[in-house]
Amino acid sequence: MFDFMMTEDQKKLRDEARAFTNWVPRELILDMDAEKIQFPHEYLKEAGKRNLLGLRIPKAYGGRGLGWVENGIAAEEIGVASYSLACLWGVGADIVCDAIVQFGTEELKQEIVVPLLKGEVYAAEGLTEPRGGSDFFGTTTRAVKSGDDWVLNGQKRFIVGAEGADWFLIYAATRPDGPPHERLSAFMVPRTAKGLETKYIYGLMGVRGGGAGRLLLTDVHVPERFVLNGIHGGAEVFQRMMIPERLGTAAMTLGSVRPAVEIATRYASRRKAFGQKIMNFQAVGFKIADCVTLMDTARSLVYSTCLAIDSGTVDAGRIRRMISQSKKVSSEAAWEVINKCMQVVGGIGYTNVYPLERILRDIRLSMIWVGTNEIMQVIIQAEWVKEYEKVHAKAPVRDVENDAPNAYEIEEKIYE
Ligand SMILES: Cc1cc2nc3c(=O)[nH]c(=O)nc-3n(C[C@H](O)[C@H](O)[C@H](O)COP(=O)(O)OP(=O)(O)OC[C@H]3O[C@@H](n4cnc5c(N)ncnc54)[C@H](O)[C@@H]3O)c2cc1C
Repeated sequence: MFDFMMTEDQKKLRDEARAFTNWVPRELILDMDAEKIQFPHEYLKEAGKRNLLGLRIPKAYGGRGLGWVENGIAAEEIGVASYSLACLWGVGADIVCDAIVQFGTEELKQEIVVPLLKGEVYAAEGLTEPRGGSDFFGTTTRAVKSGDDWVLNGQKRFIVGAEGADWFLIYAATRPDGPPHERLSAFMVPRTAKGLETKYIYGLMGVRGGGAGRLLLTDVHVPERFVLNGIHGGAEVFQRMMIPERLGTAAMTLGSVRPAVEIATRYASRRKAFGQKIMNFQAVGFKIADCVTLMDTARSLVYSTCLAIDSGTVDAGRIRRMISQSKKVSSEAAWEVINKCMQVVGGIGYTNVYPLERILRDIRLSMIWVGTNEIMQVIIQAEWVKEYEKVHAKAPVRDVENDAPNAYEIEEKIYE
């Protein structure tokens, strides 16, 4: 995020997050990428020890009670060490804990949030199913009431932290024939539940070592006290979770690609060709210029979105649009940036002498997960159309359509 906009406290937080990122052992990053490690427990323990988990969660549960801007500042710094680590930093403590704090009972907050923010336990979230992730409201995992419990059956796919999680936030259809927004319920399911099984089967291109696996639920009994926001209340939980899910991703994506710009800048300033530093060739120097411009453009949007939410004055639809834009713009900027950086570094950039190839493999996921960029476009379009109609109804602005010489040739304005 932009240092010149930060308060002294925010700068202190940034430096704390940087110090944590600097602590991350190099071997951990390499071993996770090589899949020698399936889940980095020690990383989350250390984050908990430093009170760097759940920054937005109230202090009463072990968080810091901070806002979105602070969360964005930290997420960018946390992303620097590795995309996979940043994802784990966010999923349990920021996303799942937020859902529990907003929609869970006091008992669940004490049982899950408090130890989670100490780094003692971890929580994953299960939305995506083998049959599809985008069509979330079409979830086919079912939960049926049996005595005091709900019995879950179904499968979830690509669940980060499936290896290593102690709790899973699982969405299941409790009113399968109901309208989409009333079909689902959100359950906190303990790993120890009978009938819950995980399979570590994905050969991921990047973002490795985070325990992404498949989740199988066969007659899993869950007591009603583990339901968030009441039965059939899953849609509201989902909508709320998509804020940290997408905005957090946007900020950490920028952090994860930032080192590539630094490496490419350093390389181009040293490497010579045709008797001079390659930075002197505009074809190279302008790539660096484009990279920092893309980064700052995306960062501006992410930062503005954080400010918009923190202000509490911007309506939910516009926030949804800005979050979706932030996720789309930052992930596409990051992809362009890493490709340009690799180009600047040339052949050696394509090898594992530099981490650019890992960053490229990691960053590619940013356009797919937490809602694909096409789904972001669906939301942006829908929210913009609603907003446009509202804004025009409330405060009419100059209708520039009429400032054309033949604007009043009504018979030429045919729409059907
Ligand atoms: C490494 C990794 C980690 C992940 N972690 C998690 C996790 O922890 N928890 C979790 O629940 N999920 C997780 N996911 C799942 C991820 O969020 C989904 O892969 C993603 O939402 C897309 O779902 P899908 O793969 O089923 O693709 P589909 O939904 O089948 O989409 C396929 C294509 O169709 C397009 N498409 C679909 N519907 C529309 C539409 N209406 N308009 C336009 N285009 C459309 C999509 O954009 C995409 O290009 C993870 C995925 C990966 C790869």
